[in-house]
Amino acid sequence: MLLELQENISLKSFNSFGFDVSARYFVELKSVEQFEALHQLIADCDLPVLIIGGGSNLILTNDLNQLVVVNRISGHSISEAEDGTLCVTAGAGEDWHTLVRWTLEQGCYGLENLSLIPGTVGAAPMQNIGAYGVELKDRMLSLEAFDLDTGEKQRFSCEECQFGYRDSVFKSRYPGRYLITSVTFSLSRTFKPVLHYGGLIGELEARGIESPGALQLSDLICETRNSKLPQPELIGNAGSFFKNPVIQTQQAEQLKERYPGLVSFADKPGYSKLAAGWLIDQLGWKGRREGDAGVYEKQALVLVNYGDASGQDILELAGDIQADVYTNFGVMLEIEPRCYP
Ligand code: FAD
Ligand code: NAP
Repeated sequence: MLLELQENISLKSFNSFGFDVSARYFVELKSVEQFEALHQLIADCDLPVLIIGGGSNLILTNDLNQLVVVNRISGHSISEAEDGTLCVTAGAGEDWHTLVRWTLEQGCYGLENLSLIPGTVGAAPMQNIGAYGVELKDRMLSLEAFDLDTGEKQRFSCEECQFGYRDSVFKSRYPGRYLITSVTFSLSRTFKPVLHYGGLIGELEARGIESPGALQLSDLICETRNSKLPQPELIGNAGSFFKNPVIQTQQAEQLKERYPGLVSFADKPGYSKLAAGWLIDQLGWKGRREGDAGVYEKQALVLVNYGDASGQDILELAGDIQADVYTNFGVMLEIEPRCYP
């Protein structure tokens, strides 16, 4: 299958914020077999490369004088190890939520708390996606990637990905160097629900469900997410705009004396994680709007594009929020999505 190189393509429909910037060169990668041709193209173009999956974690601030590669590598399979563990391998271009639901329908459990996270399988390891008390690293076995510098194929174990809170070796140490082509998960035939997080138990009780099945739990999470988060097809956004800050517990306790309602959770020893949404909400930002850039009315952690906001507009609003949070709480919020160029 030949690669079709296109020029000056609008990326508006390729990023969930809906920023209308263009890519100088643009190509869709549909199979691993096309990689050799892609590697040659990268050498010929001699421009920086940006890989896009679903575009749901991107801030695009200007036209990109780059080669944009949209990953469409598809396919998924299950195999059973001797100890009964199920290994599921999926192509990097597969839609994440579709994969989650497919595993559950196969009686293959472990990904249910990660239901309805937008984007592709190949981007999930980038920031070690997480929700409702489960992170990708808890379920991932290994992944395969091409090193764009050398063209070599490489396998990474879960440990080698150096996963952290919304972090990985691909995000912090080697940004832009690897193209992830497939991810393998270690799942189970036995359903062990993870329910300790957020309001999950309360939501189940409210529905009179004592011990949920995996699809039931997935449905509940989808319902909860839909009630709190803006759907990118309707209002442009990239989910949580800031990471939850992890600070020393001593500082968190001092803050709690001044703000008794402060929402915090125990993290690694000596550290606490603050709910960034709570900090932003306290300062009155929820629902505020500057032009077409705004803070979502139901969730202060989500910045939204009401129409024609640019990446710059969103970053300016984010900068104002960061400054206000820092002045009042002494905590610097870190932006979660990836910013280009
Ligand atoms: P993209 O936005 O296309 O890319 C993100 C980064 O990964 C970029 O740096 C890109 O270059 C790189 N990349 C993409 N594909 C590859 C590849 N194959 N190889 C190498 N690099 C690659 N995140 C969470 O963790 N938890 C949540 O609960 C959550 N909820 C969200 C809710 C909403 C409404 C939205 C809009 C976003 C949410 N996110 C959440 C963020 C986002 O969905 C995830 O980060 C997701 O994994 C991004 O996938 P993507 O394919 O859209 O990545
Ligand atoms: P929520 O349940 O209202 O909780 C608010 C914050 O408190 C979350 O950010 C979560 O941190 C933290 N939290 C809640 N219960 C916790 C516990 N038992 N232990 C430790 N931390 C706890 O949050 P929400 O906005 O509705 O989101 C629900 C889940 O989906 C969260 O896990 C959130 O991370 C995830 N989500 C992520 C994105 C994104 O773009 N990254 C977007 C939407 C939702 P954590 O964020 O560390 O989990």
